[in-house]
Amino acid sequence: MQPDHEVYRTLLESTRAIPWKIDWQTLTFSYIGPQIESLLGWNPESWVGIDDWAERMHPKDRERVVNFCVAQSKAGSDHEADYRALTREGDYVWIRDVVHVVRDENGEVDSLVGFMFDISERKANEEKLLSLQKELEELSLKDGLTGVANRRMFDSILEVEWANAYRHGQPISLVMLDIDYFKQYNDEYGHLAGDDCLKTVARALEQSGVRAGDLLARFGGEEFLLLLPNTDEEAAHAVAERCRQLVLDQRIPHATSSIAPQLSASFGVATVIPTGDMAPVELVETADCHLYRAKNAGRNRVHSTA
Ligand code: GH3
Ligand code: MG
Ligand code: MG
Repeated sequence: MQPDHEVYRTLLESTRAIPWKIDWQTLTFSYIGPQIESLLGWNPESWVGIDDWAERMHPKDRERVVNFCVAQSKAGSDHEADYRALTREGDYVWIRDVVHVVRDENGEVDSLVGFMFDISERKANEEKLLSLQKELEELSLKDGLTGVANRRMFDSILEVEWANAYRHGQPISLVMLDIDYFKQYNDEYGHLAGDDCLKTVARALEQSGVRAGDLLARFGGEEFLLLLPNTDEEAAHAVAERCRQLVLDQRIPHATSSIAPQLSASFGVATVIPTGDMAPVELVETADCHLYRAKNAGRNRVHSTA
């Protein structure tokens, strides 16, 4: 059984994406979903020609987007464009327009059909991440001794990555590590040597960051954190194991350590797919708890539930 016209219309008009159609000959809208009014405030009847579309675009996006879309349409290529659309109240909403070119039987462009998606939340998140990264570059969120992110930076990034993981139903992992018998190290070699040691460990851990979104932070004292977005527990465990080896590979002598002749560290790994009733701090608490287990089990090891 074929769904009838009304079924299609009901489906189209009940999605969050806003469908539209433009006749290529006249460059006028032959259809735009009524959802446009709740998103931007302009009623469907007010979308007449492509000028209405172009005028309701942020002046800084207009030239780029209009030129791009016209060129792609002329070439008969499907395309998509992100831009800020003007609301009736005078604000802007980030839109992703996904455009499909429809041809007639002679292969000529007949019309454009597409969907507008509200991507303002995603853009806000991207912008937040970008500005946090910028802040880190500007030193304000760096740890003074090692140069990696400090606790404040970690807390901010965790919040953003947690929200991303929640929205996309993805796992987020945290590796927490603590240097073994570091008090003895300071006692044996002096506090300045201890500082150098922390710098060396930070440099080594930086090499373990496999992906652009990973974040290394100093949690405090001789404890570091590695935040791994979109990483499951098995993969996070493997990263922690690699870090453990990297610390050993530095071959920092530690004569008074009871477990190895060189400096080692213990690791706790936590992974969650965030749900609405969980808080980011639970990830930190679980990693801390697993780190405690690694210490109790003899140090220089990784503990996770994987
Ligand atoms: P464990 O294996 O159980 O972790 O033993 P530990 O001795 O490493 O643990 P504890 O927490 O008792 O000691 C941490 C030491 O780290 C104590 C403190 O003096 C030292 N420490 C913390 N921050 C710094 C720092 O910035 N520089 C130096 N040199 N030492 C630090
Ligand atoms: Mg400690
Ligand atoms: Mg320690």
